[in-house]
Amino acid sequence: MDRDKKHVEIEAGVAMGELSDFLKKHKRSFPIGLSGMTGMGYILTGGISPLSRSKGLAIDQIIEIKGFWGNGKEFHLLRPSTQKGSIFEWKALCGAAIFLGIITKVKLKTQPLRPLLSWTANLSFSQLSECINQAESWPNSLSLQWICGDYIFAHAIGEVINTDNEAVLMNLLEKLPYSRNRIINKVNDMNSLPNLSLGNNTNKNSNHSEVLGLLGPAWQKNNPKVLKIIQDLINKRPNKSCYIASQQLGGITHLNDRHTSFIHREAIWKPWVNGAWEAYDQSKRIRTLKWMEETWNSLEFVCPGVHLAQIHPHLPWHQRELSSAFNDWLPKLQELKGIHDPRNLMPPLK
Ligand SMILES: Cc1cc2nc3c(=O)[nH]c(=O)nc-3n(C[C@H](O)[C@H](O)[C@H](O)COP(=O)(O)OP(=O)(O)OC[C@H]3O[C@@H](n4cnc5c(N)ncnc54)[C@H](O)[C@@H]3O)c2cc1C
Repeated sequence: MDRDKKHVEIEAGVAMGELSDFLKKHKRSFPIGLSGMTGMGYILTGGISPLSRSKGLAIDQIIEIKGFWGNGKEFHLLRPSTQKGSIFEWKALCGAAIFLGIITKVKLKTQPLRPLLSWTANLSFSQLSECINQAESWPNSLSLQWICGDYIFAHAIGEVINTDNEAVLMNLLEKLPYSRNRIINKVNDMNSLPNLSLGNNTNKNSNHSEVLGLLGPAWQKNNPKVLKIIQDLINKRPNKSCYIASQQLGGITHLNDRHTSFIHREAIWKPWVNGAWEAYDQSKRIRTLKWMEETWNSLEFVCPGVHLAQIHPHLPWHQRELSSAFNDWLPKLQELKGIHDPRNLMPPLK
């Protein structure tokens, strides 16, 4: 920790929960995601936090990055405003590093540690529809995440900047509809928030799963149509552990940072699809993958982008995912991979 500049340097192997706990001692924070268990991959794949609407993505906090390209050459890059000549490499590493090399260290900006308001509740589909509607006009300091399977669980998270803003956030949270179990809490840091889960993980070792992350703009007038599609998909999911969830972006996540590979800066929602099947049952695996593809096809009109937090080089969708994640930036990424990882030691970009 550089106490003057408030920068922190971490190596691969540090979990986001550990980073959050460490920074708490210095009264600082980092926009970690919905789980403290994720590691460097969280940062390298973009890093969408419940606080991203006001703090930006995890990649937006990187100021130095060190590692080894796939060809074995060592690199140490600084954010482009302080170093000319390697903008393309910087941009590639901020969001697509996992395809190009092994990252050993990153230096990160940190944020002041502030208390968080946490609202959790169970919802019906029509209440979820209303919550999403309300969330689309919230200030940047508040975000909504939800998960939908056997039932719907939603979690709104707001950063308390001062007492006035706390009153505003409370007022917005009080307006949210719910069916049961509403809890509003104030916690000290991200690592103390409840998990976004349906709590049916008791037999998770007997299931295998894939996760597909989508990105798209506000649903607005499409809201009822999208909710109906999701309800139908949930009703026909092939395994009880399949679910559809979403987290909210927007606000300063929109900052069109041209120096990152996260090109879907306009996105407001990141719905993700969890497809599960009984372990080692190939026919059930195929059924679930079909359901996931159907979900993707049905939601693509509101979610044209992909967030490659999970990569699938072993699946036939890999190329489609790459195209939807990087669009026009993909050919340049492929060119850089040809230079820095010519033997394709890292995951493929084709
Ligand atoms: C419970 C849970 C909650 C999550 N919540 C969020 C969330 O809120 N927001 C969000 O954006 N994502 C979220 N994710 C997705 C998560 O960020 C990605 O799955 C991420 O890739 C995990 O990285 P890892 O280092 O923990 O895992 P690993 O399995 O170690 O790494 C995942 C992949 O990243 C690459 N990788 C990891 N470390 C390095 C490195 N040092 N150098 C090069 N490549 C590397 C590798 O390709 C590896 O296969 C969540 C995942 C889980 C399981």
